[in-house]
Amino acid sequence: MHVMMVAFPMQGHVTPLLELAQVLAKHDIRITFVNTEMIHDRVVSSSGEMTPVGFVSVADGLESWERYVPGKLTEAVYTVVPAKIEALIREINANSNEEEDKIRCLVYDQSIGSLQQVALNAAIPSVAFLPAAAALLVLGINIPDLLRDGIIDDQGNPLKSDPVQFAPTMPIMNPKDFVWCSVKNTTIQKQILHAMRQNNKLINSADWVICNSAQDLEPGAFTLAPHIVPVGPLLASNRLANSAGSFFKQDSDSLEWLDQQPSSSVIYLSFGSYAMLDKAQFQELALGLEHGNRPFLWVVRPDAVPGADNPRKFPEGFLERITGRGRIIGWANQQKVLSHPSVACFVSHCGWNSTLESVSNGVPMLCWPYYADQFINRSYICDIWRVGLQLGNDGGGIVTFDEIKEKIDGLLGDDELKERALKLKEMMGSSVREGGSSYQNLMNFITWIQECKK
Ligand code: UDP
Repeated sequence: MHVMMVAFPMQGHVTPLLELAQVLAKHDIRITFVNTEMIHDRVVSSSGEMTPVGFVSVADGLESWERYVPGKLTEAVYTVVPAKIEALIREINANSNEEEDKIRCLVYDQSIGSLQQVALNAAIPSVAFLPAAAALLVLGINIPDLLRDGIIDDQGNPLKSDPVQFAPTMPIMNPKDFVWCSVKNTTIQKQILHAMRQNNKLINSADWVICNSAQDLEPGAFTLAPHIVPVGPLLASNRLANSAGSFFKQDSDSLEWLDQQPSSSVIYLSFGSYAMLDKAQFQELALGLEHGNRPFLWVVRPDAVPGADNPRKFPEGFLERITGRGRIIGWANQQKVLSHPSVACFVSHCGWNSTLESVSNGVPMLCWPYYADQFINRSYICDIWRVGLQLGNDGGGIVTFDEIKEKIDGLLGDDELKERALKLKEMMGSSVREGGSSYQNLMNFITWIQECKK
């Protein structure tokens, strides 16, 4: 059985799809995993040896500099990549002498909904994979109602400020934080709104819509969108595999450093692959950690602060003062860090993968969303599951070092919250263990894929 999988070229999309690929490969399903050329080499060099997955790259038609123009990459992925994928399937199938070498199924990131048409053209079954919360799709499904009720205008701009909640166990969303609004760039705002509306229609004809989430995490969303099948958290069901496809080089000494710290003592901070802090906020955070007097492990990507002039500008003397207590790295093996017993809490931008990795390990979170679906995820963490606290307020303005320090103290002193985080960890563990709902869904899905060849 030969399946093609196509990822959206962002870290948070590639990682979970590659984890699904590894699970399928373990069930003797041959995988051709397609990346765009921009990320291909980085994904292959960090995962090539770990997995039996075969990697292929396709061009996105962009010059290197164009990829940094807001909206260009997304547009290319929506418009250029599908034709390349269609040609690739045709080529593989035309050159395959054996039936088993032909591509028999297309699994694609649901944000590239136009790949559904590619599967229809190639007359092969298709699977839309959602690497985010099911709540995100529910939001997309409800866009016509939001327009009808005058909550947003036809450009997606918020017209009302009352919070929106589609079901009691779903996130409470402020219209100004809807995924498309939070990107704060009108070109991308329009792109996302348009894609979400289109994708709803397109993926309706997919054979499966699967989601890296669990029934118990989002019961309301799965009731409102019963066609979405939760198979996650994939990382937990796939613990024996390494987290693959890292775009950046992982620091190799953090785990040893964590071994030397007391149990449940370390604050881990990471804002994923894209979120940034402006220079003043970055310095305030550094001071909050310094004054907090606790050990910390802080991921500061080289591009963590916008601007080219010495972006990782720490306060004067900061690095000397925190020596021995604080460790600053460029990129972590986050899944391993979060499962380390020395980690006490996670200061996070609330990307969905980071969220799943944290709740699967029972690690309480301090939530500092930046854009896109991160506000939805924050509401799940703070309002619905109640395993984290919100940092800052949504009105903007700088979060002071005092507030940062106090919030961390508050989080670590909240025993009931920590108790809930451990219960959620148990729940996640049971959903991916044999007999659990995600486990069963995943097995049904794998059986279906194995039968696609008939
Ligand atoms: N990640 C990592 N090392 C880091 C920071 C992040 O391996 O230092 C991984 C993290 O484990 C997660 C992914 O990068 O799987 C980030 O995805 P997420 O959805 O949390 O955020 P995004 O990067 O899409 O904003």
